Amino acid sequence: MKLFNTLTRRKEEFVPLEQGKVKMYVCGPTVYDFIHIGNARPMIVFDTARRYMEYKGYEVKFVSNFTDVDDKIIAKALKEGISPEEVSARYIAECKKDMEGMNVRPASVHPQATQEIPGMIKMIQTLIDKGFAYPAADGTVYFRVKKFKDYGKLSHKNLDDLQSGFRSLQVSGEEQKEDPLDFVLWKPKKEGEPYWVSPWCEGRPGWHIECSVMSRKYLGEEIDIHAGGEDLIFPHHENEIAQSEACNGKLFARYWLHNAFLNINNKKMSKSLGNFFTVREIAKQYDLQVLRFFMLNAHYRSPLNFSSDLMEAAKNSLERIVTCASFLKDREAAGGIDFIEEEKELLAQADAFTEKFEEAMDDDLNTADALAAIFELVKFANTEVKEGSSAAFAGKIREKLIGLCDILGLIVEKEEESLDAEVEKLIAERQAARKAKNFAKADEIRSRLTEMGIILKDTREGVKWMRT
Ligand code: AMP
Ligand code: ZN
Repeated sequence: MKLFNTLTRRKEEFVPLEQGKVKMYVCGPTVYDFIHIGNARPMIVFDTARRYMEYKGYEVKFVSNFTDVDDKIIAKALKEGISPEEVSARYIAECKKDMEGMNVRPASVHPQATQEIPGMIKMIQTLIDKGFAYPAADGTVYFRVKKFKDYGKLSHKNLDDLQSGFRSLQVSGEEQKEDPLDFVLWKPKKEGEPYWVSPWCEGRPGWHIECSVMSRKYLGEEIDIHAGGEDLIFPHHENEIAQSEACNGKLFARYWLHNAFLNINNKKMSKSLGNFFTVREIAKQYDLQVLRFFMLNAHYRSPLNFSSDLMEAAKNSLERIVTCASFLKDREAAGGIDFIEEEKELLAQADAFTEKFEEAMDDDLNTADALAAIFELVKFANTEVKEGSSAAFAGKIREKLIGLCDILGLIVEKEEESLDAEVEKLIAERQAARKAKNFAKADEIRSRLTEMGIILKDTREGVKWMRT
């Protein structure tokens, strides 16, 4: 499998540190409000990466944090007259509901910044001890950027260019920095803000340190994949690299993956610009599977423009897959049992779609092409599975279709529907048994249906069923 690595700006063959295992960290949201669909893009994209790696047989440990201490959380708490913990707890719970709707699996661990403060203090102290950080007179601790020789390697920024940029932007109150490039690791509390006791002052951590600490705690000093939206490349991920590599003396992450933005009218969707839709708003209009499909229908490194036309198109396309899955289920329920000889040949042909799908996904998770392979399978199914096809053939094609969609996290068959198909199948078998005057078998099927909570009614139009 090849992945585009922001660090080298090349597609590279993915080789994990430990055979068969993947350690992956994805920067999660700051929890001060409902997540918007821009935030949903990395969630869906990297959940799909995780699912595909699992499909390929890797055991994936997937860590994604919630940033639960931040100016915006504090501002919201003050506005609502509640504590910052109440704000973050509320929006973590809401975010998890949205994730469930989008079929984004919970991470192996979802650490929260406020639960990891002692680890952050420890890492900052190590950085001070090693000369990579220094406390200023007011207790702020800064990272000494120039001391870290590789600074800029991820964002491909040159220190001199950065420096001249920063000089013209000298921020007031930061005169105590040794160098304008230095960034905050710890800062003193302000009136009314949550704070923790540290060797330097009562205060709270800067944003970047949490990910270095949580990644090391839950995955180890060196990890396989670190990911997030492309706005995080600089400064957040650049600073994470500086902190972690200066502290641990080891490469931090081997592959850096970044998704492009979700835009509206070609502008980044963001809270600050006010041009956003929350996932919750979209859920009122669409099944969130449509949102997932919409996201995956583009390559994760291509900017994606949100529009209702594209959402409608996504809805229709997804519907085509759902309809095909349901058609295959009907054929499976109605068909004869044995494989017909020529179907074996067709089934072998259908393997080509799986190969195409894998080829696309192996090429830097090209979900757009993977979906194209799924649509080729849909077309094949609609042509080759017909009246007279065996149940086994329809079943195998259906399994393939559902299986490929499942790797992308797309649910194309609801549980309810699959129960319906099971019921229909049993009813058909009962009818066949009755026709063959095998009343014992017919009765047996009837009691099985009763156990499933299904009552049968023989009517002039045939057998009707309902749930008890
Ligand atoms: P934030 O809460 O702003 O830190 O964002 C959480 C995650 O969502 C980060 O990985 C961001 O890069 C990502 N993100 C935010 N806005 C967008 C957007 N419009 N398109 C794609 N990703 C985004
Ligand atoms: Zn992070």
